[in-house]
Amino acid sequence: MPSLPCKLGGTYDIEDQKKHHREMGRLGNGVKKKENDMEEKIRQVAQWIIHAKRTVIFGGAGLSTESGIPDFRSPGGVWDRYDPEDFYFQKFIASEASREKYWQMATEMFEPMKKAQPNPAHLAIAELERLGKLDCVITQNIDGLHHKAGNSEERIIELHGTAMHVTCLNCKKRYDRDEIQERLRKGTKIPYCDDCGGPLKPATISFGQSMPEKETQEAYHRSSTCDLFIVIGSSLVVQPAASMPLVAKRNGAKLVIINRDPTPYDEMADIVIHSQAGSTMSNILKYVKQEFR
Ligand code: NAD
Repeated sequence: MPSLPCKLGGTYDIEDQKKHHREMGRLGNGVKKKENDMEEKIRQVAQWIIHAKRTVIFGGAGLSTESGIPDFRSPGGVWDRYDPEDFYFQKFIASEASREKYWQMATEMFEPMKKAQPNPAHLAIAELERLGKLDCVITQNIDGLHHKAGNSEERIIELHGTAMHVTCLNCKKRYDRDEIQERLRKGTKIPYCDDCGGPLKPATISFGQSMPEKETQEAYHRSSTCDLFIVIGSSLVVQPAASMPLVAKRNGAKLVIINRDPTPYDEMADIVIHSQAGSTMSNILKYVKQEFR
């Protein structure tokens, strides 16, 4: 039997080819098994949603990357381009120079956020509400995409605020973000309040800034009273938001984590799906809807 030269100087003979095909077969089976496992997990999550009394969805930046908004920690994410130190609240308060830099960065990040549209994960979550299968969505995101997707205001808890509004740090007057961006576009470097002259800041929670009391309390309450808690697209490292899955689990809820990369809570979760939020949520919704036909 003629043998074929192998790149590494050995020979590539029929035995090697057989072995190669056996390995490919094993690999193929492995891939198939993984797909089956995934399908199984997706069906199981759908079943849990159907039978749950209160399902809470907890979202992070990974829920919006498929809408074109980069997350913080993935390669190419926000921390690759900016220094997190520049976003500290204390810096914003401390000097005019910091406020000017903050508004430059905030403006750059706001433009793609404003144009972004909900992706299949947001749409699936909105559909779960329409089907009566969603208690609430607790989001760390500031992009307003759950509103755009059609979830109702009372079912969205924005733990880290929203980039769609601006507030005066002194008198708390609220402004539409577009109105303030228009001022910046016309040359204002640092916007101040019309009423009291206090510094204006996007209505988001910066590092070092107090968490919003009402939203935080509500989020803890919903986490502790739900029977199914589904994390989507969060590295679960930002506190206190990341303690919500723990609260839910300790109070007896099933915990599902859907995230591209591993998280510190994977070990304690009942189901972990390392995959894209959009396709996973679309598939889960497909099975949930089958039950409703
Ligand atoms: P993070 O950047 O720490 O982690 C995002 C996680 O999402 C990563 O673990 C990554 O593996 C995963 N991910 C990325 N794309 C995904 C996809 N398509 N499908 C599934 N998983 C995906 O984000 P975080 O945990 O939310 O914490 C960062 C903080 O910054 C939060 O407050 C967050 O809301 C805020 N932030 C918000 C936005 C936004 O409003 N869209 C964007 C960036 C950061």
